[in-house]
Amino acid sequence: MSKLSNPAYVSKLLQRHGIRLKKKWGQNFLVDENILTKIVTTAQLQPDDLVLEIGPGIGALTEKLAAKAKHVITLEIDERLLPVLKETLAEYSNVEMIHQDAMKADYQRLCAAGPLKIVANLPYNVATPLFYHWLKEQRMCISHIVCMIQKEVAQRIVAPPGGKDYGTLSVICQYAATPSLAFDVPRTVFFPRPDVSSAVVELVPRQDTLLTAAQEVVFFKVVEAVFSQRRKTALNTLTSAFELSKKAIADIGILARLDLSRRGETLSVNEFATLARLFYNRNNAD
Ligand code: SAM
Repeated sequence: MSKLSNPAYVSKLLQRHGIRLKKKWGQNFLVDENILTKIVTTAQLQPDDLVLEIGPGIGALTEKLAAKAKHVITLEIDERLLPVLKETLAEYSNVEMIHQDAMKADYQRLCAAGPLKIVANLPYNVATPLFYHWLKEQRMCISHIVCMIQKEVAQRIVAPPGGKDYGTLSVICQYAATPSLAFDVPRTVFFPRPDVSSAVVELVPRQDTLLTAAQEVVFFKVVEAVFSQRRKTALNTLTSAFELSKKAIADIGILARLDLSRRGETLSVNEFATLARLFYNRNNAD
């Protein structure tokens, strides 16, 4: 068993480095061999894989990733943890530790040597914006995502149309990737214990999507408009979002063979894509 899975050892290690953990950075470290191994197994790492880990903390997951992959890049926002990581990962020459906010990272540069597998126990406050960023803008850089996140967010990612969990995050994730819930994680496996339950999700980004890049811009606008007023009819929300007449929107509904008097939150990913294509064509007609 790794020393980093022993809460008493972790507590002393942090004390020795004079570190008090910060809630704002979601610093709840995994101290459970079984869960760490399950995350790595889910990522199906191969010896030539390039892994990007967001928020390595003290390196509990990193050491397991480094043992399986060719190269591991870690982005850690908390500068105080860099000396700790240098100590705990001293025997791994294939780990590159970068002091960096993952929200501001240059993913094009990070994936210069090949597509990245992102494996992380994500800081919960940035999980949703990171998923948007990766899937909307950096998809070509990423071959696989395996992340531990807040269970509630995991449920939203895989939610089917119509229910309360289905929203912008569900549609973007299901459009740009194939998402699945890998397993639930109890609060007891963290040091310190968080207030919320967790789950590991797996997403395989699609490299061939239903829409062109230009149509995608419209797709994101349609999705955001619909979920900004999710209880209204699709007809009403799209009329105000696109500043068109109700008749024009209704005509698009007819072309799409969709009843736009439905609540927008019941539209499937494919139905959103069909609408986006038609809005795009209307705007770009000769
Ligand atoms: N990977 C470790 C583990 O599993 O035990 C730590 C996970 S802990 C939930 C989240 C880590 O992400 C912390 O080390 C925190 O400092 C770091 N972090 C928080 N916000 C970040 C950001 N925007 N960019 C990079 N790292 C961040």
